[in-house]
Amino acid sequence: MPMIHHTEHLEQRKESLLNNSMFSEDLFALYRSLFSLQFQSLQHLASIITDSKLIVDTTQYPMIQPHTLQFTDEIIADIKKMFKNIAALITQYQTAYSFDTLLANLDDNPELYKDIITALLSKDSTFEAIALNNKLDTDELIFMAVNAYKPLFIALKDAALQDITQFPDYTEGLCPFCGFLPDMAKIVESKNNKRFLHCALCECEWEYKRVKCVACGNENTDTLGYYSYEPDEKYRFDYCNKCNTYIKTIRITKQHDESQFDLTVENLITNFLDASALQMGYTRQ
Ligand SMILES: [Zn+2]
Ligand SMILES: [Zn+2]
Repeated sequence: MPMIHHTEHLEQRKESLLNNSMFSEDLFALYRSLFSLQFQSLQHLASIITDSKLIVDTTQYPMIQPHTLQFTDEIIADIKKMFKNIAALITQYQTAYSFDTLLANLDDNPELYKDIITALLSKDSTFEAIALNNKLDTDELIFMAVNAYKPLFIALKDAALQDITQFPDYTEGLCPFCGFLPDMAKIVESKNNKRFLHCALCECEWEYKRVKCVACGNENTDTLGYYSYEPDEKYRFDYCNKCNTYIKTIRITKQHDESQFDLTVENLITNFLDASALQMGYTRQ
């Protein structure tokens, strides 16, 4: 499986990003540095993860279970570096943020690395409690945790799923590999207009029914719909009036090569869609 280099996709979209009034030069620079940190970490982790079976069980969904997570000291050393580097990067651009308490607590108690990712994947209230204990908003800790752990989860996915391109009989809206939430969807015309979801953590993609809410499973067309973004109709968000959530979607027509679109970067580019959806009263899952 080729390693996606988000920095390249980001650079290719530089012009459209900087024309977008919601995306500043600083934000662009922050993401470029972040993607570059993640790429370095991914290359290193890919070289040290020789046996993903310690963590991944491909006979069940999701293939990673939060309560069975165990990391070697070498993996923890890499994660530690990611937390420190990401904290330094964010505070460089957003001086109001401070991760000092979190970094100090992680130094005192290395078990916290595992607690954070376990709580993130378990999606329970312990995550909010950890954020509070470390003087962070939940969203700040989610950003940190997802970005610090992303290279590890991608490396595990690449090691475990070399020959698997789909997930038989899997119909859920959560990632079949790591159990985390999708950040975006795509509809691919050249694949019979099938819809695929993209995991915000391990970046795995899986097929999901076209007309079905990703968050609550609602299939009633009276309460499902989408809004297209008129200046560029490949972008839209799909909403559900039953649970009031939305998911952003990119529609890739036959004229375009699917590999041109990196959904991690598309998710950043389409922040204007989030703004419209939130303004209309929908929430992100
Ligand atoms: Zn995943
Ligand atoms: Zn719903």
